[in-house]
Amino acid sequence: MSNIKILDEDTISKIAAGEIIERPLSVVKELIENAIDAGSSEIAVEISDGGKKLIRVSDNGQGMTDGEIKLSAQRHTTSKLGHIDDLRTLQTLGFRGEALHSIASVSKMIITSKNTSNEIGAQLQIMGGKIISVKPCARNKGTTIEVENLFFNTPARFKFLHSSQSETKSVATLVSHFMICYPLIAFSFINGDATIYKTEPNETYQKRISYVFGKDVVGNLLEVKSNLRKVQLYGFLSKPAITFPNRRFQIFYINNRLIKDKTLTIAVDTAYRGLITNGRYAFTVLFLDIPSDEIDVNVHPAKTEIRFVNSHEVHSLIYRAIRETFILQTDVETEKKVFLQLVEDDILKNSAKTDTLKLSSAQGELKLAHSHTPQRSIISDNTATSYSVNNFELIGQFFDTFILIKMKGCPAFIDQHVASERIIYNRLKREKGALPQQIFLLTEPVEVPHYIYSTLVENLQLIKTVGLEIEPFGERAFVIRSSIHSACMLDAASMLISLATEITSAPYKLPENILLDKLYTTTACKLAIQAGQALSKEEMQKLVEELFAEEYYDTCPHGRPIIFEVSRNLLNSWFKRT
Ligand code: ADP
Ligand code: MG
Repeated sequence: MSNIKILDEDTISKIAAGEIIERPLSVVKELIENAIDAGSSEIAVEISDGGKKLIRVSDNGQGMTDGEIKLSAQRHTTSKLGHIDDLRTLQTLGFRGEALHSIASVSKMIITSKNTSNEIGAQLQIMGGKIISVKPCARNKGTTIEVENLFFNTPARFKFLHSSQSETKSVATLVSHFMICYPLIAFSFINGDATIYKTEPNETYQKRISYVFGKDVVGNLLEVKSNLRKVQLYGFLSKPAITFPNRRFQIFYINNRLIKDKTLTIAVDTAYRGLITNGRYAFTVLFLDIPSDEIDVNVHPAKTEIRFVNSHEVHSLIYRAIRETFILQTDVETEKKVFLQLVEDDILKNSAKTDTLKLSSAQGELKLAHSHTPQRSIISDNTATSYSVNNFELIGQFFDTFILIKMKGCPAFIDQHVASERIIYNRLKREKGALPQQIFLLTEPVEVPHYIYSTLVENLQLIKTVGLEIEPFGERAFVIRSSIHSACMLDAASMLISLATEITSAPYKLPENILLDKLYTTTACKLAIQAGQALSKEEMQKLVEELFAEEYYDTCPHGRPIIFEVSRNLLNSWFKRT
């Protein structure tokens, strides 16, 4: 302790810069944000060597006087915020007054700028945070900021940079996200000698999305528009038939700020639940307008994270808006699935009571107003796929995973795991925890991690509903009193951990019906017959009979298909019979 000392300014600056400037992408983000805040209608971004050698961002915004240029790269200098209370009414992307200073302290930076009130512009050169020169310079109104040799004086950070190709890719993605959110601004992006993007000013969101993702994607998008109290939502989403292998195509903007947040992705996932296959992701570009006093953008120096005063309301708005869009704008099959899912989620029951959800079918086949809660039979009457319990012939099992049956003269394959999952899930939901229990007279207490313990204690009743009766034991353990899961099928302790993990995975408290559904899905997945499990003829017969006795067996609760019918047409096409 005796060696305690105050850090010098240079070290403080470099440490602070580390929080904001991680890679070329962070520099480009800060410089584009400044150009937008300056009211620019044209922004040009150039990089070379993935931004490691050079990043140049030029704009035609309001520019700066020579005095302002000198101030701009000092620590905590901003023209956007005067007092902490201003955060509540913030209209700009920047407000911390740290970006230029941080970039300047880890690079060689040249700022050239001119505003309308000055005849001539000025140029400031800084090396590693130290001003080298300030001189007059000719240029039109606006600002150009050049950043050379990023991290030249912090080699440890330089080492963490990816290949130039990979850094270029992430900068290009970032620029494209700004292009989508600001269609009125003309953007260009040049990498070395190659022009990657060049757009006109005054375009539409659709035009920009089409430019970035291609016409084919845009042709399959639905427009979404909704509001809930003071929160407005606008955007575009893919029909459930169009999915992607990762979340690259999920972009969220809050008050025109690019945001990465679990509340938003979970809401989208929940809205698509049961409609797309597990592990696939929808395309979503969503713009949310939320009053500044309902969010906190000052969570992280890079300002890409956000805290909501009412995250549940944001979840609810996104979920409902997406589901309503499916019902109003998609095909009859999707519409039916959405209806069914809504009935399963008890959403319609609630909406009839609270008068908040007004839906009507685009196709006119299934009509629903807020005062009317559809019965399950409406949906099952209209559901295609006409299998019945006594109307199939079992052929056998393949790869210990797929069951082949003959049905109306056609071969059809059933995935044994997902079929079993659907049966168990439906049963759990129907019986709501009233399934036969196996009572354990003597069980060893199960010790769980501390953070999971309190979650489980808060949700004892919910866990009982999905089949496990547990009792707290000591400071961080539980005894399992009874279980619907037969001991040979599953280790009750591992089930307990899976349930707790599911409960804690959302960053906020999910509505109870959604959470319960997630727990049913987890339980069903764990209890189901697994792929790779050899089954006797009797077991297969029972599984298929039970499946066909269910009202809904199109997909498993995660959305994976259960049955694949090999039609005559398909066989004909395989064998090139026209
Ligand atoms: P912040 O954006 O949080 O205010 P920065 O360090 O990014 O902090 O910028 C400091 C100040 O420099 C800004 O508040 C603004 O006044 C000025 N500035 C930076 N970039 C530009 C630009 N492209 N055009 C006009 N002024 C700029
Ligand atoms: Mg800024």
